[in-house]
Amino acid sequence: MTGILLSLLFLWTPEIGTTSILEHSDPEEPLSNTTSGIPVLMYHHVSDPVDGYYGVSTDRFRSDLEKLYAAGFYLITPSDLENGLMQVPADRRPVMLTLDDGWQDNFTFLETHGSTEIDPLCVVGILERFCDQNPEFGRGVTFFISWDKIPFGQEEYITEKFNLLIDMGYSIGNHTNMHSDFITLPRSKWDRAVLLPMEKFHRSLGLRTSEIFAMGYPGGRFPKDQGAEEYLSHFQFQNRQAVRIGFLANGSISSMNRLLDSPEGIFRIGRLDMSQYSVQRVLGWRNLMTVGPRDNLHDPLPPRLRQTLNFNTI
Ligand SMILES: [Zn+2]
Repeated sequence: MTGILLSLLFLWTPEIGTTSILEHSDPEEPLSNTTSGIPVLMYHHVSDPVDGYYGVSTDRFRSDLEKLYAAGFYLITPSDLENGLMQVPADRRPVMLTLDDGWQDNFTFLETHGSTEIDPLCVVGILERFCDQNPEFGRGVTFFISWDKIPFGQEEYITEKFNLLIDMGYSIGNHTNMHSDFITLPRSKWDRAVLLPMEKFHRSLGLRTSEIFAMGYPGGRFPKDQGAEEYLSHFQFQNRQAVRIGFLANGSISSMNRLLDSPEGIFRIGRLDMSQYSVQRVLGWRNLMTVGPRDNLHDPLPPRLRQTLNFNTI
């Protein structure tokens, strides 16, 4: 029966312009009482009216930011994980926000009276206003871009938007060239799925393409086959590892300690789909990384991450 359902899902083709369906994998770990979990929250469309099954309203998104801020969280990006969370203030705890696919409602330019400005109702507009008003929240979310559509919808502004995001402290991630599901994509085609987007990013970002090293797996799934992470980690773009960290959509908050126990773990960081989840439920996880004592701001955060992250071990 499951096989038939999977076959039907495989045959199902999304309409152009709609969010393709996500297949959530099972949480890979039960609730843990180790205090090392960093919640990674996943959004797609943020718009009024709500667009599709995975969409949320702008009010809901703003409300999530307020609740996360009030709960003591601080925005981080994949680079902060590599840097051992050194930017996270001692009295805040990390959270990562991710937006998948690169929909126009994530980042829209408005042309008014001969000038171009960020739409205050798009995700970047909402975040900029909120983070300006609440500097203790930090700044920066991650946009996973798939190239099956025009990134953020306005072709004439692709380059300007990508560069502006990086200038403003946001992060851009790879979501493959054609929104390919690694579960069904033959390994012989993985290189194109991973590297064609890097070439396209390079046309807009040049040397700054080196800042793109995170992969949000389309459909939120990645094969459990032996060696899959190692195979993915071998792809190089301009002499750099193209993917150093990978994100699932598995309804789980990963224990960073557990992920770091194996070199493959960093390619399987859990995410929560916030169209189906609430901040209240996020706060219910017992393994959330908590505020840890730190005598000196330059201490290497031992209470937060048990060991220095090393993303190049594979
Ligand atoms: Zn996607």
